[in-house]
Amino acid sequence: MKERSEDADPECRSVFRFAPSPNGYLHLGHAYSALFNVKLAQACGGKMLLRIEDIDSERSRRSFEAALIEDLRWLGFNWTGAPRRQSEHMADYRAALDRLARRGLAYPCFCSRGEIARACAARTNWPRDPDGVFLYPGACRDLSVGERNARIEAGARWSFRLDMEKALIEIGKPLTYMEFHEGDAGVKVTAEPSAWGDALIGRRDAPASYHIACVLDDHAQGVTDVVRGLDLDAATGLHRLLQALLGLRTPQYHHHRLVLDDQGRKLSKSKSSPSLRDLRARGVSAAQIREELSRQMQIAL
Ligand code: GLU
Repeated sequence: MKERSEDADPECRSVFRFAPSPNGYLHLGHAYSALFNVKLAQACGGKMLLRIEDIDSERSRRSFEAALIEDLRWLGFNWTGAPRRQSEHMADYRAALDRLARRGLAYPCFCSRGEIARACAARTNWPRDPDGVFLYPGACRDLSVGERNARIEAGARWSFRLDMEKALIEIGKPLTYMEFHEGDAGVKVTAEPSAWGDALIGRRDAPASYHIACVLDDHAQGVTDVVRGLDLDAATGLHRLLQALLGLRTPQYHHHRLVLDDQGRKLSKSKSSPSLRDLRARGVSAAQIREELSRQMQIAL
């Protein structure tokens, strides 16, 4: 994220991506993230990619994907090449999970979210991960291979969890990554993956999770600069660990401030934050959205 706007370097190899999930309509928070990515990519003559994060088959809809593409074009967000759709790469995510499992670093977990929540709520002050979810207490961690296979053959539903302790032992040293701010040289941050405990890295309904798909795709797409909201700051520690375990490149990161509503709350697709299409229907122009975001975030977009 070096500032090179004066004369963008034709040899620049920086690759940025905007990676929305098609599970609702985009709002001003997405607009800011997309436009800020483009600003930084243009400043250094880098490439801008679009990735559709649609591994959640229950919540993702093709109609939301079509809508977000239309909204981004309307906003003036341009990208290079065809968007990469994660649902088309499930076999790659599954292969990576299997690789971790063969090395004893991931294991099948048969517990449902409800079972885990009940078990943890019954204990005093059971720790939670940075998203506020109870850390996995480990019931399935030490099941024998025979027991695991028997449950899978009997048709039990299961997800994949990372064995955090084994993973940290395998890496054996603190991991770091670079966090950049516009125009500065960046700071080295020590990753803190252990905050996630035995993180869920493969869902019950899909052989992937946001975390595994994100690091594999950033690598596959040659992403050098991940620019995303501060709400994903803590996830970067886990991403850094997965990159180290899977031999993937580590991009540099920038986690930007979040756009807030007039009561200081984070915008959300599920709450009643106005979508870009609501605003457009009310006659707001793309230029006005840029102006409003530039004013609120104190950065020229
Ligand atoms: N798909 C995520 C979202 O819509 C963004 C993930 C990322 O940028 O790493 O919040």
